[in-house]
Amino acid sequence: MPLRLTPSSANISTNIQAAITQHLLNTVGVNPADATPNDLMLAVSHVARQQLSQRWVETQTREAAAKARRVVYLSMEFLMGRTLSNALGALELRGAAAEGLTQFAQTLENVADREPDAALGNGGLGRLAACFLDSMATVGLPSFGYGIRYEYGMFAQDIQNGAQMEYPDPWLENGTPWEFPRADISYPVHFGGWVEHVNGSPIWRHAGEVAAKAYDMVVPGHGTEKVSTLRLWKAVAPAHIDLNAFNTGDYARAASLKNEYENISWVLYPNDSTPAGRELRLKQEYFFVSASVQDLVARHLREHPSLDNLAEHVAIHLNDTHPAIGVAELMRVLCDEHAMPWDKAWKICGNTFSYTNHTLMPEALETWPVGLMQHVLPRHLEIIFRINKEFLDLAATHRPGDNAFLARLSLIDEQGERRVRMAHLSIVGSHKVNGVSALHSELLVQTIFSDFASIWPDRFTNMTNGVTPRRWLAQANPGLSGLLDSTLGSGWRLDLDQLQKLKAKKDDAAFQKSFMAVKRANKVRLAEAIARSTGIQVSPDSLFDVQVKRIHEYKRQLLNVLHVVTRYQAILANPHADWVPRTVIFAGKAASSYVTAKSIIRLIHDVGTVVNNDPRIGDKLKLVFMPNYGVSVAETIMPGADLSEQISTAGTEASGTGNMKLALNGALTIGTDDGANIEIRQNVGDDNIFIFGLKTPEVQALKQSGYQPMRYYENTPALKAVLDAIAGGQFSPDEPGRYRALVDTLLWGGDHYLLLADYASYVATQAQVDDLYRQPAAWCAKAITNVAGMGVFSSDRTIREYAQQIWHMAPDAL
Ligand SMILES: *Cc1c(COP(=O)(O)O)cnc(C)c1O
Repeated sequence: MPLRLTPSSANISTNIQAAITQHLLNTVGVNPADATPNDLMLAVSHVARQQLSQRWVETQTREAAAKARRVVYLSMEFLMGRTLSNALGALELRGAAAEGLTQFAQTLENVADREPDAALGNGGLGRLAACFLDSMATVGLPSFGYGIRYEYGMFAQDIQNGAQMEYPDPWLENGTPWEFPRADISYPVHFGGWVEHVNGSPIWRHAGEVAAKAYDMVVPGHGTEKVSTLRLWKAVAPAHIDLNAFNTGDYARAASLKNEYENISWVLYPNDSTPAGRELRLKQEYFFVSASVQDLVARHLREHPSLDNLAEHVAIHLNDTHPAIGVAELMRVLCDEHAMPWDKAWKICGNTFSYTNHTLMPEALETWPVGLMQHVLPRHLEIIFRINKEFLDLAATHRPGDNAFLARLSLIDEQGERRVRMAHLSIVGSHKVNGVSALHSELLVQTIFSDFASIWPDRFTNMTNGVTPRRWLAQANPGLSGLLDSTLGSGWRLDLDQLQKLKAKKDDAAFQKSFMAVKRANKVRLAEAIARSTGIQVSPDSLFDVQVKRIHEYKRQLLNVLHVVTRYQAILANPHADWVPRTVIFAGKAASSYVTAKSIIRLIHDVGTVVNNDPRIGDKLKLVFMPNYGVSVAETIMPGADLSEQISTAGTEASGTGNMKLALNGALTIGTDDGANIEIRQNVGDDNIFIFGLKTPEVQALKQSGYQPMRYYENTPALKAVLDAIAGGQFSPDEPGRYRALVDTLLWGGDHYLLLADYASYVATQAQVDDLYRQPAAWCAKAITNVAGMGVFSSDRTIREYAQQIWHMAPDAL
């Protein structure tokens, strides 16, 4: 049964001008006649906040009354982006707000642009969590997201002389209208010390305590009155620290002590797919997990007499291993604090937790030195040892006498410095473990988790990722959304499979004309954004070739650059050929400590400087790098792309979600047989995607047989010319050796990601892209077919699968 529409929200659309004026006067504190775009952003946000607040209270009241089963989604990262436009969309007030703002001579776009992104995440993993929150609210799944209220989110990227510069992201500096501080909700979180065993009962004599204070963010559902919660924890020094300062007068010491506690929630670690491995990071992980477990236990005990039925009412999901310590924490709370027998608690734990793995790369799997764990979380280490002992006893019954098997399975890596394997803790503590695309889930059970799968084959499953169509189509691409509305009706927002009906229109000349007009307008908008952020003029008539994602060797931005240089040299060699003009667009951040990734960013700029200023090239080729990639930049880029580069080495990209956003906005994919690219191919058809390169088994076979990159260099003249030009300083004349080391990672360093092996296939496939682009109607039909096939990649589908198969919940039960 849908929630009742509150009278105020029915009226607000007609009175929105008055409501904006009221908030300018009462909340923002400015004269409406003098309101700046920023003032208006705040005022409109408060109009929406008020509406959502009412819906939120109603949702919470209803769920509490029903003692609903809830999902608790634990994630170190939530890459939310901006909230205003999404909130207005959920309230169906976007049109009214735009109309209301005309009185102030402002557009909604310009006003909404004043809001800083909430960039509490690195990349795909954090954005997935944000899309999931949107879908959980929208499909009506009682849910809480839990994370950290980082004072500083993902660093802002600027480019100086082609090099990445990192600046802090003080996104909360001017406050945010979107958070609700919950002054009454605060939990102590303990660290350090030692464990005493008194009559066999463990007592954790901790050495430090910090308070976790709750700040809630609204997560509006669409097409429903449901609103879910993202609860973020801020670390605050316990009150007695201040008191001591007051008593002793040693303010400097007290302040530094206070900082020592509060720095836990200061800053997001800017690493994507490589663990930070620092003590502060471990404290962050435990801090937010402990607060979240205390919160869910308190909520349970408000609604139920004991914790015996916890597993029936809570499903706790681990977004990667970052919150894996939660398994030990729940055991500690149940056994140590609620005197539950171990075996009973362990059963509850297993029925409560589930875990998503996000990567196969061994170097990306999180482990913690036993010594560090002992120092920070001594009781948890004891619990982990006991879990491990019982698990290895069980494992031994599967393969008696096979000690190598047990050593591989152990929660403790005993080779070298002993380390706790967080993925193993997550698997042992969960009833379901999933990968994020069909290929990735299959590889999980064949490779890194094969021993676990031999014991528990049914524990492993697949949940292919998705993206929310509200943000990535309705909000980001109003042009295409309008065309879809007039062609299909508006139902696709909540039922993305309706896009299938577009297939019938793919060769319809009138529809093609409208579709291409939308794409062209989006490209004009993107070209303007490029000019604003880089100063480079690009032609919307060129093919917009887009690779936007974190900069990482496995994602192979460097392979893309090799193609750009190949094309540059080919145009110079043959200037009068019928070249399809191309604009190659990159965006993405490199982890601050990732030297090779930063060198790739610099190379993109150096190649761009040469190519873009070569008068012989003109509009035939342009290369641009849009700085500071994030959700809002992505929202501008996706709708304007013609070609989506998804070129990771087969077997390395767990899923990808950028690939989905781009195809949903009508880009054709050039990609490897990797991650969700494979499922995109299955859904749009082999003829509507450009797949190239080695497939996963071929990658494995080539590596087994002894890959020799130099052979490709010697036998491929175009490749040799490109690498020689880069290594020889043609693009860095002021410092000819700048890219020697980068090229040497390929030629002499083993070319770990097989760029040279895939080069020829990639370049040949790029020529096929040109051939198709020369036939606008054929290209357009394929672009339409791509949009039509993307229904399955809605995160609503993903969340329904999680609900049914992992969390055992029925969407819309309330
Ligand atoms: C979707 C998204 C990603 C993930 O991109 P991939 O191409 O899947 O790696 C990263 N960052 C932002 C800002 C995104 O919106």
